Amino acid sequence: MALFLNIGMRYNADMIPTGSMLSGLVITEGMDMSRLSSFSTGGRAEYYAEPRSVFDAVRALEMAYRKNLSVTVIGAGTHVLVSDDGIPGLVISTASMRGMSIKGRLLVAAPGESLDNVINQAIDHNLTGLEEIAGIPGTIAGALSVNAAANSTSISDFLFYADYLTTEGEAHRRPGFHDPSRSQRSLFQPGELIISIALRLRPARATAEARMRKEEYVERMYIPPCRRFSGIIYRDPPGMSAARIIRECGLTGPSGLKAEFSEYQPNSIVTYPGCTSSEIYALIEHGRMKAKEHGYDLETSVALLGSFTGAP
Ligand SMILES: Cc1cc2nc3c(=O)[nH]c(=O)nc-3n(C[C@H](O)[C@H](O)[C@H](O)COP(=O)(O)OP(=O)(O)OC[C@H]3O[C@@H](n4cnc5c(N)ncnc54)[C@H](O)[C@@H]3O)c2cc1C
Repeated sequence: MALFLNIGMRYNADMIPTGSMLSGLVITEGMDMSRLSSFSTGGRAEYYAEPRSVFDAVRALEMAYRKNLSVTVIGAGTHVLVSDDGIPGLVISTASMRGMSIKGRLLVAAPGESLDNVINQAIDHNLTGLEEIAGIPGTIAGALSVNAAANSTSISDFLFYADYLTTEGEAHRRPGFHDPSRSQRSLFQPGELIISIALRLRPARATAEARMRKEEYVERMYIPPCRRFSGIIYRDPPGMSAARIIRECGLTGPSGLKAEFSEYQPNSIVTYPGCTSSEIYALIEHGRMKAKEHGYDLETSVALLGSFTGAP
């Protein structure tokens, strides 16, 4: 496929129009990323873009390519830890790329649609299957990228195909495949930007039942609003639960930092006011070291953006 689909040639890509708009695309310099991550920590992105269309996403990628900037893609920021030193290069959030269509059993969504909205629309069209992962916050592309999973169901169980752009602006289609061992493992390479997701869902008549099931899963995921709470920190090792390992290693509760593993859901971190990304990272690394002493290898699931050095 042609580099940048030949549409980027209509503007001068040698200029980075920070703070200005080029038919819908705004590039912001020095974006405060703590506002965009669920941990509410971290420094600034050198450049930040939030395209609303595939066209604008291609233009953002082309600017980065011409300026030799690294590209970091995010969705709603519910599963990222941003370095306190910030993120060099261009951060592109696809959270504002919205839209959905449904034909037969096939639901096709733009990357910024929330998982919640996708599940609701599916049920409205007599399509079910996604209820078990209801309550996971964030966008459909974020969910697909990390292969979000809950209650023995992962989003890739329903993936028919996903279209994505490379950092060179080439468009590709990745067909879906079912592989339960890929739960919480990305199907995409860093920098690849998902632009469209097609899910093949199960037709069902009992949609009222499906909606009730969905709301039950949302309730189970409920987090009291007073707590700043992360999602899954480590991937489950094959056949094991990371939460169980964290408990077994005695990691939950006060850590001496402004972050601690939750007593309530051990594979999550609760933070307190004034917490930094460095403290969260120190806790994550401490957890990995402690688990190793007990003979377990824990892989970090949350995406680390920017540079992190120095374990505790
Ligand atoms: C309270 C809470 C509970 C959670 N519970 C669960 C749970 O039960 N199960 C679970 O699996 N997760 C859980 N999570 C984690 C998180 O919500 C999911 O992983 C979510 O799907 C991430 O979506 P996002 O849009 O926020 O992605 P982000 O956090 O913005 O990004 C996550 C990853 O996706 C990539 N990404 C995002 N958009 C794109 C795109 N368009 N193209 C390419 N890559 C992209 C990013 O590069 C990054 O690596 C929880 C999080 C919180 C805060």
